[in-house]
Amino acid sequence: MSETPSKINLLGLSPAKLEAFFDELGEKRFRATQVLKWLHQQGASSFDEMTNISKTLRAKLAEVAEIREPEILLDKTSRDGTRKWVIRMDGGSAIEMVLIPEGDRRTLCVSSQVGCSLDCSFCSTGKQGYNRNLSTAEIIAQLRVAIRAYGPFDPNERRVSNVVFMGMGEPLMNFDNVVDAIQLMMDDNGYGLSKRRVTLSTSGVVPALDKLREVSDVSLAISLHAANNDLRDELVPINKRYPIDELIAACKRYLEGLNDKRVITVEYTLIEGVNDQPQHARELVQVLRQVPCKLNLIPFNPFPNSGYRRPSEEAIQRFKDIMIRASIITTVRRTRGDDVDAACGQLVGQVEDRTRRSQKYIPVVQEEPVHGKTERV
Ligand code: SAH
Ligand code: SF4
Repeated sequence: MSETPSKINLLGLSPAKLEAFFDELGEKRFRATQVLKWLHQQGASSFDEMTNISKTLRAKLAEVAEIREPEILLDKTSRDGTRKWVIRMDGGSAIEMVLIPEGDRRTLCVSSQVGCSLDCSFCSTGKQGYNRNLSTAEIIAQLRVAIRAYGPFDPNERRVSNVVFMGMGEPLMNFDNVVDAIQLMMDDNGYGLSKRRVTLSTSGVVPALDKLREVSDVSLAISLHAANNDLRDELVPINKRYPIDELIAACKRYLEGLNDKRVITVEYTLIEGVNDQPQHARELVQVLRQVPCKLNLIPFNPFPNSGYRRPSEEAIQRFKDIMIRASIITTVRRTRGDDVDAACGQLVGQVEDRTRRSQKYIPVVQEEPVHGKTERV
């Protein structure tokens, strides 16, 4: 996105914030609904397109606001139909997003940060370090890029049927911007996706999870990867701060706050000789019995110098069988898009300001404010 910091990018305003924006301009609040529809249903990229808004108001908007989108640096389609984009953000960093088609579903895997501070040992985004949070506009822009890749916006066509926050970054470490983006995704005047079709995946930032249930009913996935604290401390370092029992308790609280029968999706990346043995599966059964959930096994996706390997098909099947025999609903996420480096954990984008890579830390979640691919394939 080119930088014009004085103007406010309307793509990043949640429905409530857009109303407040029109209030401040001294305009009626229904303008917010009109503009939301123009932006997110019609895909407007200029105020001139907004024909049910007077010319005077359009001119006023153009003075104080803008509709600013990222530049697409790369658009690649894998042999299996998975499509990956690299888009350039403010400040020169680039992030990646992936669209995974499956039957009549098209799942968009969005990024929430440039890099990630949580440093999970098997994740290439984590290895890259943390650069910065994406703004709400930058998160929403990913959805717009994917929709527009299939022709001009058409509100009658659901080109992206599901969104998962499983790209780069830890969404709960970018709380406010992610929550606003989710609101736009689920708003009837926005992208109109149902709460079952938007999934936030977290490695377990427990206090932020508790905050989330107060402001959203988005579907939840947690990245468990180990069922005992010693191993999880090693694979997912945030476990040292919020261990497994605290995470499971937070998941239960989250589900209790929903007035439906949704379950948590538990993600478990299978790594050869690390967490793929029968005893690991049996341990996992014990943990998963504590919370309504379904299990998604992700065979490890290799990246250079990771030091880890993907288990054999037999080991994956053996692990899955133990889970199924214990009546845990289990799917194996088949690797998609690996010929374009679009598989889970392979997203690295590009961090231009490398000086900030040294800012790795075990995060302390601030109380006020917290700054801030699944569907089975
Ligand atoms: N930060 C969030 C969401 C992004 S990662 C989270 O951790 O949940 C999306 C999923 O891909 C997570 O479950 C993550 O653990 C998994 N993942 C990361 N690296 C991987 C790799 N190399 N192979 C397979 N899965 C990986
Ligand atoms: Fe961050 Fe998620 Fe990767 Fe862990 S798995 S380093 S939380 S993006």
